[in-house]
Amino acid sequence: GATIGILGGGQLGRMLSVAASRLGFRCHIYEPSTNAPAADVAHRCTTAPYDDVAALTAFAQSVDVVTYEFENVPTAALDLIESLRPIRPNRRALAVSQDRIAEKDFLTGIGLTVAPYAAVSTADELDAAIARIGTPSILKTTRLGYDGKGQARLTSPADAPAALAAMQGAPSVLEGFIAFDREVSVIAARGLSGEVAAFDPGENVHREGILRTTTIPARLSPGQRSDAVLIAARILNALDYVGVLGVELFVTKSGLLVNEIAPRVHNSGHWTQLGSAVDQFEQHIRAVAGWPLGDGSRHADVVMENLIGDDIARVPQIAREAGTQIHLYGKGEARPGRKMGHVNRLARPS
Ligand code: ATP
Ligand code: MG
Ligand code: MG
Repeated sequence: GATIGILGGGQLGRMLSVAASRLGFRCHIYEPSTNAPAADVAHRCTTAPYDDVAALTAFAQSVDVVTYEFENVPTAALDLIESLRPIRPNRRALAVSQDRIAEKDFLTGIGLTVAPYAAVSTADELDAAIARIGTPSILKTTRLGYDGKGQARLTSPADAPAALAAMQGAPSVLEGFIAFDREVSVIAARGLSGEVAAFDPGENVHREGILRTTTIPARLSPGQRSDAVLIAARILNALDYVGVLGVELFVTKSGLLVNEIAPRVHNSGHWTQLGSAVDQFEQHIRAVAGWPLGDGSRHADVVMENLIGDDIARVPQIAREAGTQIHLYGKGEARPGRKMGHVNRLARPS
């Protein structure tokens, strides 16, 4: 059978490996850190840094196609891998989503709406950006942020020096603060032959910048629901994308704004493990392996809850609940803010 290479060995890589095994594939994980969640479920795991040319070469030569669960793989590593094997989703999808400014330029370039934004590297640029965008606003590093890390909120222009200091000299982007009604996301897939399938939009609740719950279905009007799916399809087609994509959206009175995109399976798509015949992980493997996309239609209403840090201590009680599916990532220490697992609860069979 074919072997799928996965860059990154976190929980997303772990669940992709399980899905791939179920379809008869072998998985080879490439991950710089030891004791990665995916290492103990994959067929093979290479533990080596992203600048190890010999390890990267051997990894690429051992697989048929390379995908990723982590979008910050260094460019030189990707260049080397791409000279040997196809990378799906493609390099443009990665480049666009690695950099918040490239991402917003791309999204507005295909006619979508994002929060007002301006690139900021210096105090003068921040002052100019505040003069144009105003406060409240959020300063974010353009690269490497996740779970709300690398962000500073400004409630008034007086917050500018502290916000800039929080960026630690990294290139940043100032975004207008959007007073959204709710946050939703669309998990969608595009196959090798260009077909597109979207899962039902989910409604997301964040706390301290970290996703806590996703509720399916999201409270959206029929028009908003189709807008959300059409936005995802437009992004997939514009990028000539292959695989699963996550699109985070702000729902406002004047329409949907794109917050950010993730070129991979997405935390807010974990509900599909309980709510769909084909979940986001199988869908991604199908797409990158060139299979037809599967049936992701929702057959149940689901609430996904992340188990973060000490939440893991509730697992013995959760294990007694009816209609609840538990996923644990096999991570050792329950540090604050660390995603340890999630549960999918059947909300109402439909
Ligand atoms: P992720 O883990 O989703 O990749 P991230 O670190 O990239 O997170 P964002 O998605 O940019 O962070 O922001 C995290 C959350 O902060 C958003 O889901 C939203 O709740 C809030 N937020 C971010 N930007 C804005 C904005 N411009 N206006 C209002 N709220 C915002
Ligand atoms: Mg993000
Ligand atoms: Mg986000």
